[in-house]
Amino acid sequence: MATYTPMIEQYLSVKAQAQDAFLFFRLGDFYEMFFEDALLASKELEITLTGRDGGVEEKIPMCGVPYHSAENYIQRLIEKGYKVAICEQVEDPATAKGVVRREIIRVVTPGTVMEGKTIGEGANNYLVCLTEQDGTMALAACDLSTGELYVTSSPSSWEWLKGEVGVYDPSELIGDEALLSYIEGQAAPLGKSVVYTAWDKGKEELSRKQFGEAAWIRLENERRSCISLLIGYLSETQKRSLGQLTKFSSYEPEQYMILDPFTRRNLELVETVRERSKKGSLLWLLDRTETSMGARLLRRWVDKPLLKRAEIEARLEAVEKLRDGFIVREDLRASLEEVYDLERLTGRIAFGSANGRDMNALKLSLRKAPGIKELCQSSGSATLGQLAEEMDVCSDLADLIDAAIAEDPPVSVRDGGVIRNGYHERLDELREAGSNGKRWIAELEAAERRHTGIKSLKIGYNKVFGYYIEVTKSNLSSLPEGRYERKQTLANAERFVTPELKEKETLILEAEEQMADLEYRLFSELREQIAGQIERLQLLAEQLSKIDVLCALAAVAADGGYVRPQLTDGYDLRIEQGRHPVVETVMKDASFIDNGTALEKDKASILLITGPNMAGKSTYMRQVALISILAQIGSFVPAAKAEIPVVDRIFTRIGAADDLIGGQSTFMVEMADIQIMTEKATSRSLIIIDELGRGTSTSEGMAIAQAVIEYVHHHIGCKALVSTHFHELAHLESSLSGLSNYRMAVQESGDKVHFLRKLVPGAADTSYGIYCARLAGLPNGIIERAYGLLQSLEQAAAAVAVGDLPVQSEAGGSLPDKQIAPEVPPTSDVVQLSIFGDEPVERKSKPIQD
Ligand code: ADP
Repeated sequence: MATYTPMIEQYLSVKAQAQDAFLFFRLGDFYEMFFEDALLASKELEITLTGRDGGVEEKIPMCGVPYHSAENYIQRLIEKGYKVAICEQVEDPATAKGVVRREIIRVVTPGTVMEGKTIGEGANNYLVCLTEQDGTMALAACDLSTGELYVTSSPSSWEWLKGEVGVYDPSELIGDEALLSYIEGQAAPLGKSVVYTAWDKGKEELSRKQFGEAAWIRLENERRSCISLLIGYLSETQKRSLGQLTKFSSYEPEQYMILDPFTRRNLELVETVRERSKKGSLLWLLDRTETSMGARLLRRWVDKPLLKRAEIEARLEAVEKLRDGFIVREDLRASLEEVYDLERLTGRIAFGSANGRDMNALKLSLRKAPGIKELCQSSGSATLGQLAEEMDVCSDLADLIDAAIAEDPPVSVRDGGVIRNGYHERLDELREAGSNGKRWIAELEAAERRHTGIKSLKIGYNKVFGYYIEVTKSNLSSLPEGRYERKQTLANAERFVTPELKEKETLILEAEEQMADLEYRLFSELREQIAGQIERLQLLAEQLSKIDVLCALAAVAADGGYVRPQLTDGYDLRIEQGRHPVVETVMKDASFIDNGTALEKDKASILLITGPNMAGKSTYMRQVALISILAQIGSFVPAAKAEIPVVDRIFTRIGAADDLIGGQSTFMVEMADIQIMTEKATSRSLIIIDELGRGTSTSEGMAIAQAVIEYVHHHIGCKALVSTHFHELAHLESSLSGLSNYRMAVQESGDKVHFLRKLVPGAADTSYGIYCARLAGLPNGIIERAYGLLQSLEQAAAAVAVGDLPVQSEAGGSLPDKQIAPEVPPTSDVVQLSIFGDEPVERKSKPIQD
């Protein structure tokens, strides 16, 4: 049987440790891939597939990438969801016996990338670990590039899990198989998942050491196991110290407003439903941050609105001072603009991948901190004052870097030029020797020119041949015999060396090598020294991010004419002249019409909103939800006045996300959402349902809508905004004490309907569906026929008056004696629409003639 060469044997044994990854096998200046890896990588990376003799008859498929540009190729594979195992030579080839020993030094995975464009600047890159133990699900989310680590747990609930995973939008998931396959089954892609369950005592010990006994001991068991598994995975893949993970932040789900994934999507908090882009989302509107870390923190704030009033008020207090203090705010923002991504810089320092430029970026950022601290102190804000007081500006670290690192260091840390002159005596000596050598070469060049009389003679250097004397072919005859040894022949020149040049070359190159080695050592020492101070840097990064976000919110408040919301622990929600923050911003040629809201206990906790399509119903309902969320983030709100009770949870059921789950009908999705709502909503929640009951037959839809509204009214008792096509449901106002009818006003003139976008009391009489069909350009024949049919249907319906549906009492029984006819009979010919404008407008429910 043919055997492979020792090198290929070595390759195969290393590859066996990284079956699920591309193995980048270092050979000289290349990372090579073989066999299956080569076949696939050549396709994915569009690089040439070649073959290599490996001791067997057939050539082994091979392809490779230069090591200095490998990062780019690794990124591309990671973006496609692959993992890459990097295998390096781990002994000096000069002293090795046989094949140089090689080992995997790191496995790069989508959730553990430290650099490149895979990790968007303003976004986190999370690796999420999921576990379940004794009926408790736990989740740990880690961004290795910033050093953030969050952990939480909850009694097992798929709903909860889905929501929490959605918050982190992970690029990689690991952990319990059942949990992962559930998450994978969800329509939205949530990153690559890897089953990884090999928990053992060793991993727990590792984590205990990582975070220290004191923090560890306070953590619940399930959370400990979850973090241990995550740390285990990280240490197996990264194979180095995880110095940037200095602490974890453990939180309870109930600490924040709960927003299920549908609600987050429907309200377009961080991305739009259609394009899935940040532009057009609430986050986009608020993101006036100056630093990437601020942008990431803002996203976390939007993802997790607060429930504790004191915490919200502290943020609002700072936003208010910064909104009013234009100069302080703009000075702060100007300083922050010059602060680099401290979190990722410190991440790279701890990881050992930071270079000289990263060090200088850190230094420049740290130099900005004292000014920022002072501005906070002078801002007049208690919150910012407190932040400033606790701020350690780490000037000692900036000084250290300043003394050591050159002004404009190269990217590579191995080739010298990183350390400043005067930092280290021996290095200065070597440099002096090096530059003496270079001077000597220059002098030699001049002497040789004089000596030979060849003006074009020059001394050059290349990596392969070292220093040489170059003479053009036409001048060769002027070169004296004997002393010049031919080295290389070019098209029109010859290159020579002389014994003295060779001797000097050895000295120069030795000095250069020593210099590069020494510089690298000095640089590594400095990097380690700073890595030892990582907690201080992380704390500072956190403080600066917070200031950045507060400034951003203040800028939005100032420019948008927002007001400070009054948070309460009560029930009633009152907004005067509220606006939808995003719609008002993106509207170009028209102005946004404001609307008030009053959701009050016993009086009107449920608003039943009717009105034609396009009248502005869903914009209005979202506006109320967004104002609540903004308030609980600590932001000012787009309104003239807002009294906002702390809301524990917002449920939405809004049309736009229908397409989310393939295979399930709109109606089933709606019912599933409503089921969750009935189970989870409390009296402190806010419910928003758009077009309740559509997607099934009219009578069934209406029946379900009524039953749901009654349930919310009797059993949940929370604030709710419900829009419906069924204007017939208006009769509920008479039987449900907490429900009020509202409609989006429209004005008709001639055959035109004008949307006033004003919310007014009372119910609409029809939903103008046919009118919309006409606006959409359906042929007149169809429109007229539809009006005709509508009339007959309405007449038929009048016989089985919808208002005759029994109303359920709070006790649960039916109240046939409280049957109330609709306020606005659907069959009436002329209806007064008198609530808007000065003059009542008449509306005929007859076909509108052209
Ligand atoms: P509906 O839910 O009643 O069908 P939408 O809320 O989707 O209507 O609103 C339709 C369009 O009307 C929106 O895209 C928006 O451009 C515009 N609109 C809604 N509310 C307002 C408002 N208050 N002021 C100005 N334009 C509005």
